[in-house]
Amino acid sequence: MKAAIYDQFGPPDVLQYREIPDPEAGTGEVIVKVHAVTVNRVLNCAVRAGEQTRRNVKPPHVGGVDPAGVVVSVGEDVESPAIGTRVACLSRIPCLDCGSCEAGNFEDCENSVMLGVGCYGGDAEFVKVPASVAVQIPDTINFAEAAAVLRHGPTAHNLLFDTGDLKADETILVMGAAGGLGLAGIQVAKAAGARVICAAGASERVAVGIEYGADFGVDYTAEDLTEAVMRYTEGQGVNLVFENISNPLTWPKALACLQKFGRLVTAGSHGGGKVELDCGILYHRNLRIFGATGNTDANVEDTLLLAEEGKLRAKIEKIYPLSGAAEAHRHIEAGVPLGKIVLDPTLG
Ligand SMILES: [Zn+2]
Repeated sequence: MKAAIYDQFGPPDVLQYREIPDPEAGTGEVIVKVHAVTVNRVLNCAVRAGEQTRRNVKPPHVGGVDPAGVVVSVGEDVESPAIGTRVACLSRIPCLDCGSCEAGNFEDCENSVMLGVGCYGGDAEFVKVPASVAVQIPDTINFAEAAAVLRHGPTAHNLLFDTGDLKADETILVMGAAGGLGLAGIQVAKAAGARVICAAGASERVAVGIEYGADFGVDYTAEDLTEAVMRYTEGQGVNLVFENISNPLTWPKALACLQKFGRLVTAGSHGGGKVELDCGILYHRNLRIFGATGNTDANVEDTLLLAEEGKLRAKIEKIYPLSGAAEAHRHIEAGVPLGKIVLDPTLG
């Protein structure tokens, strides 16, 4: 099969579109013919550049964390999905070997790795995954949409509800409005009945947040974030901040938007990662700050339901053939795209 593979870390040019051996499904595994896989700033570009040393990737490597496609072969002991099923692959790959995995409790596997990071991923014509991570997708959504929605929807659900305890009558501030996770956060919170304020560092990115359902938006390069949110909420502030950028300039401004007993949830640090915490605000307002990664099977099911109902959509900026993987990486590294960049290996 063809794959976008690299033999050493480096600039996008290290990506080679070339022939590698076809994967074969072992016990409990399936082979998926890939129709779409997203390209991400950290999990693809930074890993390829060799900047993610703690992830322990060893070239030669094939990235691709969230492939969607059609099951074309199944190994022994696979009851579902059947050949021909349209699926999207979850990124957390259980080992299939430990006690938890043998008992069928794949979520509890302690040796799990990330697809396309700890093992070869979906930047190829075919990808091999455990059957348990290949979830059937609704007929109503295409492969690019499925890959993008399942990349961020379950995390958004986990942060908003399991971690952030969002209630229907609450007001939430979603940072990084047009980013994949931000856009999922806006739609999931809206579908839950919350009032949603979105914020981003450019007016066209705020406009994307509004287009996907936010009630109000703030361009924090044009006006003070805290002041704008306080004005909109008539001095009340918000109950929950959905952070995912960790920018040292905007993070303290977002925290200051919280009302008493407010919560801030976060996953993501592409805006810098180190921020200043005003402990006076923290304790005077009885605030709580949570970080979390990962998601549950229930988060995945809830994501698929919302997607099927058309309440959770992805914004796709451009679809490249797999042979254009290097160009796709350059596209992301050249700036901040307004939607997801996707590879489709069926286009060549
Ligand atoms: Zn395991």
